Amino acid sequence: MTCFKPEANVPSGTSSFGLDYNAPEMMQPRQPDQTPIDFKNGGRVKHNDVSPQGVYLPNYNILTPHMRSPDYVQMSTAAAITLGVMKGRMHRCSCTRCLNLLLTYPEGCRANCAYCGLARHREAERDYADRNFIRVDWPAVPMDEVAEIVARDGANSPFHRMCISMITHPRSDQDTVTVLKKWTDRVDPSAIPISILSNPTTMTRDDVKLLHEMGSDIFTVAIDAATPEIFERTRGKGVQSPHNWQKYWEILLDARDIFGPQKFGAHIIIGMGESEYEALSLVQQLVDLGGHSHMFCFFPEKGSLMDHLPVTPRDQWRRVQLARYLIDYCDKRIDGMSFDEHGRVADFGIPQSELDVIIDAGIAFRTSGCPGKFAEDISACDRPFGDSPPSDIASYPFQLEEVDIRKVRNQLGMEKPGETYQAGEDLEMIDG
Ligand code: SF4
Repeated sequence: MTCFKPEANVPSGTSSFGLDYNAPEMMQPRQPDQTPIDFKNGGRVKHNDVSPQGVYLPNYNILTPHMRSPDYVQMSTAAAITLGVMKGRMHRCSCTRCLNLLLTYPEGCRANCAYCGLARHREAERDYADRNFIRVDWPAVPMDEVAEIVARDGANSPFHRMCISMITHPRSDQDTVTVLKKWTDRVDPSAIPISILSNPTTMTRDDVKLLHEMGSDIFTVAIDAATPEIFERTRGKGVQSPHNWQKYWEILLDARDIFGPQKFGAHIIIGMGESEYEALSLVQQLVDLGGHSHMFCFFPEKGSLMDHLPVTPRDQWRRVQLARYLIDYCDKRIDGMSFDEHGRVADFGIPQSELDVIIDAGIAFRTSGCPGKFAEDISACDRPFGDSPPSDIASYPFQLEEVDIRKVRNQLGMEKPGETYQAGEDLEMIDG
């Protein structure tokens, strides 16, 4: 049984370099090792060629079966628990509202992004279907079984959205279409809207158009790195990875044309060496184009090329979360904010009384992503504990309670008199 329980408290607030932000000079990935030829391209799994038997839970002690999309997809541990194909509980959440489906192949993702647990450089160490990704395992489930379970639940489905996550693989574009077809044959896209988390590197404008025509609602591009330099260092030539900043923007702008306003967006990871000003400039640019930003807090994923680097200090993260919410949902602009010499937010540009109302509502600090059925600014994609442990939550996958707000205010340096946060108070909350 999997249980996301509070772990030993990890220090937050300052990085291990003593700064209250992750400065560019320290956020350097290590170089990937050479992979022995027999382990390349899923060689071990293809050589053993074990037939899959239903749901596969990552297990490092048995031979990984030979599973491929579109017959198989992987899903987050939270989605597998919610779908009922895996037992477990999540700290303070009863379920996730987004069914994230990830394409899977023995060859895995052919890119090598420095912060990602799925990256190619891990071929020798761990088979693709056993790799951790955003801190958790991703069980593999036959796609027909996924569609069957959700179709059977009908209007009672706990899911508010389904998302297909593409990876960098020669078959990714055509298999995304087949997975989407398998889904829409059984589940009405107006009942459970569909998002596509794209892989621009292999895509054309026609691919974007086809996914829209087939009933997808929102199209997102995981830019991840907030500047071209960080992109190149963490996802491009710097780590022998094929991605290109211009190509990502080309597909993002195609999505704007084809999916339309509010129906496209980009992922941004905070704390990879960009300044707060740079990250928020990108947020503003996306809003000006008519789209949204979905934020992730950098976490040193085990086995990734950045696993030796510090988590994003919580004050940096909270400032960016709050400013991003103001820009994305409150019609505020970056030009009304002020920044210090390190590019950190010094003033949010609105009266404190107005800021207090937004902080106390808590929504700004929840996981950001494509909306579900509750409200436009509440993400269906709640990714429980995908960017932090329960003891030091970055993106809250549930509505914040009073103690959580006090903790966030403490991290922001905005505590109210008489309402201070005592370390560990929030860990005593009863599980949902
Ligand atoms: S393309 Fe996506 S899945 Fe592949 S290594 Fe990069 S971040 Fe990971």
